[in-house]
Amino acid sequence: MIVADRCWWRCDSRAKVGEIFRAALNLIVPPLCWACREAADQRLCEDCRSQLPWIEPLAPRRCGSVLAQHWSPLQFEGPARALVHALKFQSATALAALMARQIVDALPPRAFPPDAALVPVPASPLRLRQRGFDHADLLAAELSRLVLLPLERPLRRRSAVARGQRGLGRSERLSGRGLRVGLAHAAPPKAILIDDVCTTGATLELCAEALLEGASECVSAVTYCSVP
Ligand SMILES: [Zn+2]
Repeated sequence: MIVADRCWWRCDSRAKVGEIFRAALNLIVPPLCWACREAADQRLCEDCRSQLPWIEPLAPRRCGSVLAQHWSPLQFEGPARALVHALKFQSATALAALMARQIVDALPPRAFPPDAALVPVPASPLRLRQRGFDHADLLAAELSRLVLLPLERPLRRRSAVARGQRGLGRSERLSGRGLRVGLAHAAPPKAILIDDVCTTGATLELCAEALLEGASECVSAVTYCSVP
């Protein structure tokens, strides 16, 4: 009995305390679905899960002229849009794991060739300072764990204007105004850019161009969702 008590404290005490703390917290503040904000025992309730706007039939999307292929399983609307906003603007960083799982479950294995490396689209330094995390980097890290591909961070982004691309019109976004992307480290020969949303493709294209100007021979992209 004494041995069992010792083992409990030594091996599992942190996990047990964490479980008890979470259970107590759930009693005080019941967990909510991140999409509809209704009480739910999961980060995405069953109703919202059933309303995810999957792109069907799923096929590589046309996105810019330098990307070999671009995969995106969802439309940027409904619960998918809510999850992206919660991750980005409400610091719901745990959603990165859920979103990565949805991507992997939806995409065919050929979206992640075994000799490629995952490269997150880098956040601007301003956004990184404001949020304290890089949402695309979190998503790429979770994907790397699931698809067993290396995660590399060769890109650096600087905003020519403080607000970056957000708030710019379509033509301004397409022109790449507000973005400057360069290489901070050697680019992998085969790269898969990872981001949460593809709006016009301008950001992905700029990142792909920077990688191709380095050592990359082939650049594709995977985003959680895309603007229709
Ligand atoms: Zn919901």
